[in-house]
Amino acid sequence: MQSIAPESIFRGNDAWINAMPYISKLTKRPLVLGRSVQTNSLRKDIIISLKTQNIDVYSAELQFDCCYEDIDRIKNLIFRNKNDCIIAAGGGKVLDAGKYIADCLNISCITVPLSASTCAGWTALSNIYTKNGQFVKDFSLKTCPKILVYDHRFIKTAPPRTLASGIADALAKWYESSITSSTIDDGLVQQAIQISRVLRDQLLIDGKSAYQKQLENNPSWRNTIEACGLTAGLIGGIGGEKCRTAAAHAFHNAITQIITKNKYLHGEIVGVGILLQLRLEEMKNNNQLANQSIKQLLLLMKELNLPTTISDLGINVFESDNLEKIVNFTLRDKSEVHFLPFEINKKDIFDVVINFEKQKIKF
Ligand SMILES: [Zn+2]
Repeated sequence: MQSIAPESIFRGNDAWINAMPYISKLTKRPLVLGRSVQTNSLRKDIIISLKTQNIDVYSAELQFDCCYEDIDRIKNLIFRNKNDCIIAAGGGKVLDAGKYIADCLNISCITVPLSASTCAGWTALSNIYTKNGQFVKDFSLKTCPKILVYDHRFIKTAPPRTLASGIADALAKWYESSITSSTIDDGLVQQAIQISRVLRDQLLIDGKSAYQKQLENNPSWRNTIEACGLTAGLIGGIGGEKCRTAAAHAFHNAITQIITKNKYLHGEIVGVGILLQLRLEEMKNNNQLANQSIKQLLLLMKELNLPTTISDLGINVFESDNLEKIVNFTLRDKSEVHFLPFEINKKDIFDVVINFEKQKIKF
């Protein structure tokens, strides 16, 4: 069974208000799940508006990440409260945790992304991390969320950094799906790849303006947030697993194994992963266009203040066993790096990471 999209999607400036009659029909006793302090006041508004509908609302917050410690604690709370639905309101980690818990308990999940940082509000997939933010595994859920509320007024309040992260994560769809799935004889997959190409083009055109002018009346901003939060999810939905991830996400998963002082967002790490994947394609698959793509991406990434090297993510690969850890995790048995259509070994990953970290490309 393939779950392509949420059952109902509300989008635009009044998405939350428009969704309210449907939400009050679906749940009488929801748990609103969140995490960050910055989004507290938005969640309070959400809770107040639910209460005015005579809905018996509970709330909880993740302490760490989408990790088993938080998941177990929230599950117990839901048992105790007898909640019939989770309303996950936050960034990717909150949305992933809400979807995962709802899936385990067979209750409905409503996703309310409060930034455009990922397409987690759409997908039937949750990434599980340790409480320190190290990637553990991704988990396929039975279905996409019941309702997705993509309220532009909520998303407008998010820091521009989250939008930059969402752009990098959405760009990965093209670079990953086109290399892993272009030979798959399945119309839906081919169409998903083409949507990801159009999505990339739109982000290259609109990304900078969206990042600089985070305003409802800026069409570039509207198109970009919807590209990151909706279209990217649709591509994963119709294209399936191989359309979602390849080396860029494998590098992301490996880089998160090293705990850093400052935390970086999912898409910020995936962006570095795209550049590493392209360099790998150039070195191992003789892809002449890869270097052009790197230059094109670097221009945009600089404009969006995105990290472009592993050292920009606060990790020195030449220190302790950092490089070894990244290489081993990238190449582990279950890694998405094996979706690449060419063989790679330990030395290839060593070479590509060292080559990348040593060269400083200036513009
Ligand atoms: Zn991603």
